[in-house]
Amino acid sequence: MKGGIELVCPAGSLPALRAAVDSGANAVYMGFRDATNARNFPGLNFDEAEAREGVAYAHSHGARVFLAINVYPQPSGWGEATCAVDRAVELGVDALIIADPGLLRYAAHNHPRQRLHLSVQGSATNHHAIQFYHDHFGIRRVVLPRVLSLQQVRRVVETSPVEVEVFGYGSLCVMVEGRCMLSSYVTGASPNTCGVCSPAAAVRWEETSSGRQSRLNGVLIDRYAPGEAAGYPTLCKGRYRVGEHVFHAIEEPTSLNVLPVLPELLSSGVVAIKVEGRQRSRAYVTRVTRVLRAALDACQADPERFVPREEWVAALDEVSEGRCQTLGALHRSWQ
Ligand code: SF4
Repeated sequence: MKGGIELVCPAGSLPALRAAVDSGANAVYMGFRDATNARNFPGLNFDEAEAREGVAYAHSHGARVFLAINVYPQPSGWGEATCAVDRAVELGVDALIIADPGLLRYAAHNHPRQRLHLSVQGSATNHHAIQFYHDHFGIRRVVLPRVLSLQQVRRVVETSPVEVEVFGYGSLCVMVEGRCMLSSYVTGASPNTCGVCSPAAAVRWEETSSGRQSRLNGVLIDRYAPGEAAGYPTLCKGRYRVGEHVFHAIEEPTSLNVLPVLPELLSSGVVAIKVEGRQRSRAYVTRVTRVLRAALDACQADPERFVPREEWVAALDEVSEGRCQTLGALHRSWQ
């Protein structure tokens, strides 16, 4: 592995997978082109031939492959989900990322030698929950939700029976992850059951006399001033009228960036830093992977004197949501 901590990068397509590996990822994570993963967007993900090619490419370059089957299948989707587990194991992926306890049980019983990671969608934020998944399904790693402060991450690592992976860069999700009701309420399709927050079929763009506006299943999400950059409509990041004011009432569109606290994060004992964004382009994957690779190498070489370089911040700024970056919950001293 390049460096002691694992850099885990998104692979929404074969070109993105190659870009991540070539740019210094230690591992990539991907999903099948169906409703078994929480990034089920048109034009993304892997069919079986592409997945096989991706696994071969990563392995031949010394990178590991994790495969996300991280929805909570409805009864009608159970066969598809278990079939995805079997296919992934047969492909030789290095770990399965799963959230649903039933699916974890299926994988643990039917493929006892397969490495299992608890998805961020599992929302395990304390060592009792992690111990439960370890005892019952033998998980080897947990991906922590982005709702914990640095102190809380440290405490979880100290008591966790398994490896801990945290997000290092990318879009934020403000709900307790894995349990968002916003999108199911408006569209009937949640990230947990259908793999998307805002299904493309429910998205509508309109040009009006007061500017471009976006709707999700008829619900007005945002209205943009002339020339203003328009983001993909996501319910939690829309602008709504509250009293007299129209503003991002739930969450500002912004990207998590842990570079300012990287030394503290690494010293906490986490084993892996994950980049969000399987729905993003190959150029995004290349840029973010390169920056994180350089930062992790610099931080591990000399944590005492580590300072994020200006060019890293600028490079990330260009691909950040709303061109804003945040430490999210990590900096909350009161948590
Ligand atoms: S709608 Fe927002 S809060 Fe809900 S899952 Fe999507 S990103 Fe997270």
